Amino acid sequence: MEPYRSPATDIVDIERQEDLSTVTYPESLRLVARRPLMGGPTPLQKLERLSLEVGVEVWMKRDDMGSPTLAGNKVRKLEFIIAEALRAGADTLITTGAAQSNSARAAAAAARTIGIRPLLLLSGERPAEPTGNLVVDWLVGAELRFVGDVDWGDLDHLVSEAAEEVRSQGGAPFTAPVGCSSPLGTLGFVAGYFELLDQLDAKGLAPERVYHASTSGGTHAGLALGRTLAERGPRPKAISAGRLSPDPVAHHLELAQRAAALLGLKAEVQIDVEVGHEGPGYGTPGPECVQAIRHLARTEAVLCDPVYSGKGLAGLLSDIEEGRVTSPVVFWHTGGWQALFHPPLRDALIR
Ligand SMILES: *Cc1c(COP(=O)(O)O)cnc(C)c1O
Repeated sequence: MEPYRSPATDIVDIERQEDLSTVTYPESLRLVARRPLMGGPTPLQKLERLSLEVGVEVWMKRDDMGSPTLAGNKVRKLEFIIAEALRAGADTLITTGAAQSNSARAAAAAARTIGIRPLLLLSGERPAEPTGNLVVDWLVGAELRFVGDVDWGDLDHLVSEAAEEVRSQGGAPFTAPVGCSSPLGTLGFVAGYFELLDQLDAKGLAPERVYHASTSGGTHAGLALGRTLAERGPRPKAISAGRLSPDPVAHHLELAQRAAALLGLKAEVQIDVEVGHEGPGYGTPGPECVQAIRHLARTEAVLCDPVYSGKGLAGLLSDIEEGRVTSPVVFWHTGGWQALFHPPLRDALIR
């Protein structure tokens, strides 16, 4: 284990986020500390060839873009989580997930950007060699603890235990739950919703829906709360890529309400989660997902991942096919391509 170092002395620079874009955020959100990690708004692009093929104008919000370390939807959540860890004087960021967790990987990288130590509790056994996201975890020097086959709920319990251990050694831990879907992390997607609105306005677009893959709920809860605060814009539709709780609607709603409370608000939030596109289960792509990934790759040269975004895309394409989507529509690409370099997932796609 590395020695503890004194907390980073960086000051959270709230001004800096305004340099990055012209997005108008609600005042309550601007008051919450945020440390920019995304490098500015992600592009909103029209998928010309896919749109022609499916007969609906599809726009894509490119949260997949960026580096192997800090790309993907978890980075939005981490902008708020990392700012708070810094403010709290933390020296260790502890989080958890599956071995190929995009969330744990992004958190490990984000921790390094403020000079603190990443500690990851990952389900499963330590693999013989790092692949996919684990390559990044390994290179940024995260401490990796493999905890065996543990339920998602129990993973968060293990995070509390690890935090206690760090504290007992004189350290200052800061924790983030599975998927970085804490109320604070959820604010990242409230901000994201306003970023999207700004881009839609600039392009003169008024889509009815924005589709995205969903599991731990922070993405959907944040977008849905953003929609409520904005009182306009596309309604978010979550395509479940695997369930964290038996009742994802109640779970996401509670998350949105707790995020609203951080802003000092009580908001009516509309949650819309569609199940049925998970395929064989969380982490395993079915034929519908594989086909959607190939379709997008061959028309647009954009890669979705087989755990999340491929299932989200499959949900959108199936709704288009059934005539349930009005044009234009937005697909929020949540990232995840790092997992394509994990052989079992890669093989599921190229066979
Ligand atoms: C975590 C993740 C999601 C799901 O987002 P939640 O906020 O956990 O619901 C979707 N896509 C990718 C690539 C992810 O890593």
